Amino acid sequence: MNRNDLIACHDCDALLRKPSQCVKGSARCPRCGAMLYRPSSVQLERISALTMAALFTYLIAQGFPIVELDLNGATSQTTLIGALVALWNEQMELVAVAVFCSTILFPLIELTALLYVLMPIRAGFVPPGFNVVLRAIQFVRPWGMIEVLMLGILVTIVKMTSLARVVPGAALFAFGALTLMLAVVVLFDPRALWDIADALGERRAPRASGGRDAAQTSGHGTPTP
Ligand SMILES: [Zn+2]
Repeated sequence: MNRNDLIACHDCDALLRKPSQCVKGSARCPRCGAMLYRPSSVQLERISALTMAALFTYLIAQGFPIVELDLNGATSQTTLIGALVALWNEQMELVAVAVFCSTILFPLIELTALLYVLMPIRAGFVPPGFNVVLRAIQFVRPWGMIEVLMLGILVTIVKMTSLARVVPGAALFAFGALTLMLAVVVLFDPRALWDIADALGERRAPRASGGRDAAQTSGHGTPTP
């Protein structure tokens, strides 16, 4: 038997044959009843919608003013980027870079990487570099919630230096919502994606001519829940 056809139950370590219908149905361990698979297509739809919503929320969070700067008596509202530039100019380069990475760069990379993997899979084909991107997502995942800490640090510094005050506007609420959304996105099990990619690969393998046939199977690839 092919080793790739076997899975171990994560609760009782029972070695089981991988269910072939794992993309559509759920599967439970026959010994202890632990959930081995949820219906992957349902998860896929859910996580795709959430990732799109998170990306729009991200744009709102970055596009609207989040702090009000006081420059020589004149106040002006600025976005997170503007606040970071102000921090940089106040000789707080390290904090500026740390906040930039955790609140702007990492969420953007994570969201675009997820979309890069999710959208082609939904359309019925496996994008190039699928494995590498999915591993990268899993690798950066533990750092996913650090933006909360970093935004907290930013707010603290803003208050301490009285350089600026936080604007309780759209951007701040968008950040709150984005944090919750990313927390849910992080709960998503990437194994489901791998299984769907496996199923797509197996379906495509007997057909030698590639792209066109893959596109034709796409109608069956994403059954609507
Ligand atoms: Zn079990």
